[in-house]
Parts: sequence; structure tokens; C-alpha cells
Amino acid sequence: MKKLRLILGDQLNADHQWYDQEDDEVTYCMFEMRQETDYVTHHIQKVLAFFLAMRAFADQLRDRGNRVIYLEIDHPKNLQDLGENIQMLIQRLNIEKFEYQLPDEYRLDQQLKEICGEINVPSEVFDTEHFLTEREEVKDYFGEREFLMERFYRHMRKKYNVLMQGDEPLGGRWNYDRENRKKIPAGVEIPSFNLFETEVGDLMEKIESAGIQTMGRLEDRTLRWPLTREEAKKALDYFIDQLLPNFGKYQDAMTSRSPFLFHSRLSFALNVKLLHPLEVIRAVEERMDGDEEDEKKLTQVEGFIRQILGWREYMRGIYWAKVPEYFTKNYFEHTTPLPSWYWTGETKMNCLHHAINQSLDHAYAHHIQRLMVTGNFALLAGCSPDEVDAWYLGIYIDAIEWVEITNTRGMSQYADGGLLATKPYISSANYINKMSDYCKNCKYDPKKKTGEDACPFNSLYWNFLMKHEKLLEKNHRMSMMYNLLNKMDEEYRKELKKQAEKYLSNIENL
Ligand SMILES: Cc1cc2nc3c(=O)[nH]c(=O)nc-3n(C[C@H](O)[C@H](O)[C@H](O)COP(=O)(O)OP(=O)(O)OC[C@H]3O[C@@H](n4cnc5c(N)ncnc54)[C@H](O)[C@@H]3O)c2cc1C
Ligand code: SF4
Repeated sequence: MKKLRLILGDQLNADHQWYDQEDDEVTYCMFEMRQETDYVTHHIQKVLAFFLAMRAFADQLRDRGNRVIYLEIDHPKNLQDLGENIQMLIQRLNIEKFEYQLPDEYRLDQQLKEICGEINVPSEVFDTEHFLTEREEVKDYFGEREFLMERFYRHMRKKYNVLMQGDEPLGGRWNYDRENRKKIPAGVEIPSFNLFETEVGDLMEKIESAGIQTMGRLEDRTLRWPLTREEAKKALDYFIDQLLPNFGKYQDAMTSRSPFLFHSRLSFALNVKLLHPLEVIRAVEERMDGDEEDEKKLTQVEGFIRQILGWREYMRGIYWAKVPEYFTKNYFEHTTPLPSWYWTGETKMNCLHHAINQSLDHAYAHHIQRLMVTGNFALLAGCSPDEVDAWYLGIYIDAIEWVEITNTRGMSQYADGGLLATKPYISSANYINKMSDYCKNCKYDPKKKTGEDACPFNSLYWNFLMKHEKLLEKNHRMSMMYNLLNKMDEEYRKELKKQAEKYLSNIENL
């Protein structure tokens, strides 16, 4: 039976059962398509990284003796639409069966179901064999109970026997989060991590001449991301040897000295499935080798494993539990457009200047920059979650909707009203000043709430609390902040509000 098998751009899992045996009846197909480059404005590095990783994967399959049809973005036969390309190949190759792997995005899931209803050959869908949970598993696990990441994470530790001693967590504690909140001291050396340099060749011109809109920058026409499985494994080894020893400790720190600090930069490789999450977890867990250093290592190792075994799987589970309703959630009814400097980095607020410029330069910012700088400001300023989502979905190399929207709309913008986060992730300048070196070189004063050069985060923070008092005052995790607010006299509250309104009306020039 002549089969056509579709491989999407984020399905580069060479260990999938599909490839266990050579089969002359099978043709694999991969497409670079306008429908994927145009659903949001992506960072140029993201488009390049996807296409180059896909091309390398297609070459690898061919080298293993498989038949692969790969339609590049400017291929004359490329119809630029998934359904039309599949229909065209089914007819041209006299295909008798169509097969695909479960997509991670709702829009593609729907589209593929429609395609299967329209083609005149039978179809079959396969698991991607990547995640550690089924699509519906998080939803089924919680049932009627409240979604709680920590509970799910412990369940996963037991299920996969990760960092366990019998039924108990290794070291006696499940979570070392409290130890993971250190600012980075001046003397600590941060490794440079320049492992990969891939020349992008003429692909950049092809993307431009096709008229694809992109954002961001690429230095020296060279990509510095792992694009093949070999490179991804090298990045993992490097992380474990050089970065893991400081990962947990400085996980939340921010510094103008380095965009990456001790973060792994494995998210792209994981999300396109060049790496399997369990392989990453086991490799990191092996660091616990029973010596007297283990207790120290556990803080770093647990801190990292929690992100992948816990957060990553949890976010995917929430996505499949809550889409499509999740797409329109807007708890605070925010409508302000995102300031245009999110696309240029031209703001005088040094924290935002850094977080945005490094995102434009590297298609990367780490978790706390995304959450407590760019996300925090957008929430305090009342920006529309649709615009915030589109920005995050475009700018980051690892942004695929299942993990982007849950983190952005849910965790960062609280647009789901608290399904994902127990309170909004907002802060005044105090937190940014504590966790970074940004404030000391800023035009604004982190200590001032009102008046000339007062840090905008301060008045916006109190203004946000006043504005949403009805929605938030009953949240017990906010009670300390509301107690402080309630102690302020009416005049001071008015002053803060006035200051915030002044900044909001001049948001483009902050
Ligand atoms: C507003 C916002 C948007 C985000 N958008 C994305 C996104 O589009 N794609 C994405 O992969 N991550 C996203 N994250 C999560 C996190 O910021 C990135 O996974 C991380 O910064 C990637 O860099 P790294 O590989 O160096 O991560 P590390 O800090 O080294 O962490 C290791 C791995 O853990 C996983 N991980 C860590 N935190 C999370 C999390 N909250 N959710 C899911 N997985 C996590 C990632 O796979 C990551 O590679 C977002 C976070 C926020 C606050
Ligand atoms: S003073 Fe305010 S705007 Fe400036 S870096 Fe600090 S937090 Fe950011």
C-alpha cells in the first residue's frame, strides 16, 4: 500500500517508530509553507532555525534510505498550504493511505482532521512519542480538583521514578524552589556558550524575496542554535558540565552581563523534538552519583528537572484541557496596544531595554525576563492579551502555541483569572532591582514612586492593584499587598494614580 507520511516542522524525532524499518511503499513529506511563516510575525532566527533543522532532518532520513519529498519555500510546486500540498502529492504519487503524527497545536490538529475528511484515501494518526503524558492526562488527573502544578509534579516524579528514594523524594524534599532565588554576584564567571555557528547561506534572501515578514536581528548571517540531534546532544552535555552547577541557584537572576546566564537554551531542541524530555531528565539526574556533593547538587538538579518533568508537561496538559476557550480569555478586559518599542527595544527603561534587545538579537530571553520584565510591564500597563500573545509567539525561538499561550496568557497575564497562577505575577521596581543589575544604569529611580524620573513600574503597580481591587482583594495571596494599599491615605493613592496615568498616556516615550 503506497503511503504518504507527513512530518511537521516540530516533529523531528528520529527515534520515532516510523523510522524503525525501511519501507519502499512509504514517502515522507515535509513542507516550508507560507501558512506557517505568516500566522504571526516570527523572529527571523526562528524561521531560519525551523527551516534549517527541517532540511537537516530530511537529509538524515534520506541518508538512512528513506524517500523524502521536501518542498522548500520557493519550490515551484509548493502550494504553501498544508491541505493543498497533501492533496497534490496524493494525486501525483497515487497514494493509498495518508499518515501523520499528532500535532501539538490546536489549529493544525483541526486542519489535519479537516484534510483527512476531504482526501479520498484512508488516514491514520500516530503519537509523536515525545511527551511524558497523553494530551488529556493532566485534565483526567485533576478531574474536578483544582489544577496545581506542584501536585502534578510529585505525581510525575513517582510515575517516572525521578529523584526518588522508594516512595520518598531524594533528599527528603520535593522542591528546592526557595534556594533558587539568588541574585548573581559580580565575581561569578558566566561561560560564553558559543558551540554552534551555522551559516544561513542564501536562505535569508529567499525568505525576504518571498515577502515573508519577520522581526528581530541575526548577527553575521550565522545561527547559534543546535539544529540537529548531534548538536542538541552536544548542547545538553555542555549544559550538564558547565552550566548545571549554577543553574538552580541563579535561575531567577538577571544581568546585563549575559543574556543566557546558566540557562540551558535547550527549549528549541526540545520543542522540535530533537531531544526527548526523559533523555534530558535522566542525563541530569545521573549527576546525582551518590557522593558527598549530592546534597549541594540536588538544588540545581531538582530545579532543572522540575521545569521539564513538571512545568513543560503541565503546560501542555492545560493547553489541551482548555483550548479553544483559552484563546479569548481576558480576565481584566485589557485592551491597550503593546507599545511599539516591544519591536525595537527603544525604551529608556533599562530592564525592558535589555530584555527586549536581547530578544531581538538572540530570539531568546530566560523565564524571569519573560515573566517579570516584559510580561510584568504588559500586565501592569493593561495591554491586550491578544497582542501580548502575538509578540511572544513571534519573538522566541522556542515559541509554539501550546507552551507559549499557557505561559503568556495564563501564567504571565493572568488572563485566565487564576487557572494557572494563584496570583498575578506583578511587581514594582523592588523585585527587578533585587534580582538584577539593571536599575543602577537606568534613567529612572527604582526607589521613587512619584515625581520626576520615578520608576514607571512603581506607580503602575499600585495603580493596577487599585484598578482591579474588586477582582483581586479576596485572593489571600494578595492580602499583604492590599493591606499596604489600604494603609495609604487617599491623597497618596490619588498621587500614585495620577503618576500612573501620566505614564500610560505617554507609554510610547517611556
Ligand atoms: C511569558 C512567557 C512565555 C513563554 N513562552 C515560552 C515558549 O513559547 N516556549 C517555551 O518553550 N517556553 C516558554 N516559556 C517558558 C520558559 O521561559 C522557556 O522555556 C525558557 O526560557 C527556555 O529557555 P531555556 O531552554 O534556556 O530554559 P531553562 O531555564 O534552561 O529550562 C529548561 C527547560 O525547561 C522547560 N521549561 C522551563 N520553564 C518552563 C515553563 N514555564 N513552561 C514550559 N517549559 C518550561 C523548557 O523546555 C526549558 O528548555 C515562557 C515563559 C514565559 C513567562
Ligand atoms: S528603575 Fe525601573 S525601569 Fe529602570 S531598570 Fe529598574 S525597574 Fe526597570
